[in-house]
Amino acid sequence: MKCTVIGMWGGFPKKNGPCSGYLIEKNGFSLLVDCGSGVVSQMQNYVDLNDVNHVVLSHYHYDHFSDVGVLLFSRLVNTQLRQTNEILHIYGPDDSEMARRVREVPYSDFHPYGEECSLTIGPFTIEFLCNLHPVEAYSMKITCDEGKTIVYTSDTGFTEDLVTFSEGTDLLITECSLYDGMNGAASGHMTAGEAGVLANRSHAKQVILSHLPHYGDLEELLDSAKGEGNDCVMLAEVGMEVEV
Ligand SMILES: [Zn+2]
Ligand SMILES: [Zn+2]
Repeated sequence: MKCTVIGMWGGFPKKNGPCSGYLIEKNGFSLLVDCGSGVVSQMQNYVDLNDVNHVVLSHYHYDHFSDVGVLLFSRLVNTQLRQTNEILHIYGPDDSEMARRVREVPYSDFHPYGEECSLTIGPFTIEFLCNLHPVEAYSMKITCDEGKTIVYTSDTGFTEDLVTFSEGTDLLITECSLYDGMNGAASGHMTAGEAGVLANRSHAKQVILSHLPHYGDLEELLDSAKGEGNDCVMLAEVGMEVEV
């Protein structure tokens, strides 16, 4: 399967740089993971919006879901233009207000999930782990029908459960919101060093540092993370493609 980084900035989008969004593709099937600010515009460089019928949201912070509204409108308009007749399926943590807002737009549906759930969407199976974050949020393990895996942490403080959840993954997309010396646990985020520990102890085969901060020298994040022992670590960039 292929992962394309649509956006990776934490908190708010950078100029021409969207917040969290990852396009996962296998044999022509497309799955979007998170849909933060700027993702719908940027994603059209890589895929037709009408070919993305499934979107899994990790949590309801704006940098992860704010573009869902306009994605619903794209489906409404493009259905009326007879460019598609597929329903747009949005999956997210159980939330009645989110369910109502998705379902009130025609040609869209909402499907709640929780930690005990496993979703099968096209060639992908998705499992969830509850995160350490101020709101209900989940890490995801996406397994394709060939057995390859991608683990995406979304937003979380470091937990031992996350090490276990990520064990041996082919691609780890880990949040890396903070520089070493900052307090990750207090904000529900990880420092670069903590992301590096996760990368090393999980034995992830490839690692992307993502959900990056808008300040400081990002190369310092890379050095800190690699310093924990896993050398297969990259900084996320808009448009980056990784084969798994
Ligand atoms: Zn975030
Ligand atoms: Zn968050």
